[in-house]
Amino acid sequence: MVDDPQQLEDLAAHAHEAHVVVVGGGIAGLVAALECAKVGVRVTVLEASDRLGGLVRAADLAGLTLDVGAESFATRGGHVRALVEEVRLGDDIVTPAPAGAWIAGLPGAAPLPKGGVLGIPASPFAEDVRAVIGWNGAWRAYLDRLRPVLTIGQERSLGRLVRGRMGERVLERLVAPVTSGVYSADPDDIDVELAAPGLSAALTRAGSLSGAVLQLARARTEAPGSAVEGVRGGMSRLVDALAARLADFGVEIRLDTPVEAIEGVSDAAKDSPRWRIRTAEGDLSSDQVVVAASESAARALLRPLIGLADRPGPAPRVHIVTLVLDSPELDAAPRGSGVLTVPGTHRAKALTHATAKWAWLSEIVRAQHPHRHVVRVSFGSQAEPPATDGLDLEAATAMAVTEAATLLGVALDGSQVVGSDIARYEQTLPGAAIGQRDAAAAVRARLAELTGIVAVGAWLSGTGLAQVVPDARAQALAVRRAALFGAPPTAD
Ligand SMILES: Cc1cc2nc3c(=O)[nH]c(=O)nc-3n(C[C@H](O)[C@H](O)[C@H](O)COP(=O)(O)OP(=O)(O)OC[C@H]3O[C@@H](n4cnc5c(N)ncnc54)[C@H](O)[C@@H]3O)c2cc1C
Repeated sequence: MVDDPQQLEDLAAHAHEAHVVVVGGGIAGLVAALECAKVGVRVTVLEASDRLGGLVRAADLAGLTLDVGAESFATRGGHVRALVEEVRLGDDIVTPAPAGAWIAGLPGAAPLPKGGVLGIPASPFAEDVRAVIGWNGAWRAYLDRLRPVLTIGQERSLGRLVRGRMGERVLERLVAPVTSGVYSADPDDIDVELAAPGLSAALTRAGSLSGAVLQLARARTEAPGSAVEGVRGGMSRLVDALAARLADFGVEIRLDTPVEAIEGVSDAAKDSPRWRIRTAEGDLSSDQVVVAASESAARALLRPLIGLADRPGPAPRVHIVTLVLDSPELDAAPRGSGVLTVPGTHRAKALTHATAKWAWLSEIVRAQHPHRHVVRVSFGSQAEPPATDGLDLEAATAMAVTEAATLLGVALDGSQVVGSDIARYEQTLPGAAIGQRDAAAAVRARLAELTGIVAVGAWLSGTGLAQVVPDARAQALAVRRAALFGAPPTAD
């Protein structure tokens, strides 16, 4: 702790002499920039596209500003809430309506049973569970109670664990829709301990998977609050608020500026810039670099520095078609907050009935149009390219309307649509994918051998704001420490 006034003056002067360049203006880059800028470090953010926010993105549709990328955040750890409060949006934090989601493709549709963990039921014979997996599925799942826990041992793959203990029906109809909808991933590729921390230990204690789920679910209901929260007006407000804070701190933001290369300055004298950042508009010099670009761009930029391989497999591609439509049949929210599908049964992967999920949105929309709704239909996952591939907006909208009608169980046609949008994304594998954490640690270990460069973002922290935000913060703390005190950045 520095408290000598002269030392503080020197520190402030030194802080502004140091220059940090952040490559990429998604949430990870903006959070890293804020951490550095708020102690007086000079920061420049270089963003390839014409807007900030990356996968947190809004579109203006039928007079509404709507999230067409991330639309909520997990409350886990309280990190995103803390950030939202820091940028003065704390009073606008909202929780979704408690309506819950449905599963479609059973055949037919049924509510997602309550009290489960990643779709795994606590009680196979509960009526809402039987409505999804039938009596046969329930009896097979019940065998979990009778089997010794050691026949499975420590199983790392969520899919193999559920299949072995509770059978295919539970896996296909309950767990796969959740992992596909939430992680865009197959349950076989999900690491149990990362996706459901504590489940393996509870399995050993309880002696069965359903018993373990019951223990975890009990612990969860004792914790206050909901699993996700949002921001009144949409998550894109977080991006705008972060940009405003960065402007307050004098951060320079350059849009439409893709970084083409990052080069170490090999003959850099002590206290002179270590890095040259190449862009089409010219080069920048910096003492520290935070690489916050999307995965494929980040890999391309880092490859010459640390010999990074290509990503291990194709990235899951996801398309979100947002529909604003007039439909009195949707007023009663026939499928709660939305629908997850059993993989392979529908062209859409999932649907969110946004006006049923978010009261603030419904209030705005219905103030002028009593039967107007916002529905987001998602296509594509790790295993399957989006069915909307190659379609223009008109054709994708038509497909989304057909899928929405089936999933919501109401008649809909194109004439009811008053606005639509398609957003196309390339995602990274979820942090809970088997091997993902080790791969990220290996990248970080190689980067730690260099001085003055760190990498942040979902491809290293895991997808989801609750993972991206604290990770970017931790990495940026190391960068700013180095900028202030000259120590090399080590996030540990
Ligand atoms: C459809 C969808 C819905 C989602 N919903 C949720 C949700 O509800 N809740 C949740 O928590 N998470 C959600 N996620 C995940 C979450 O949005 C991401 O994990 C998170 O936003 C990733 O942030 P990031 O900064 O790591 O990456 P990005 O947002 O991808 O940002 C990277 C930035 O780098 C820029 N860039 C790329 N190349 C260069 C270059 N060469 N030079 C300079 N800049 C470059 C890009 O343009 C981009 O702005 C969702 C994701 C998707 C795709």
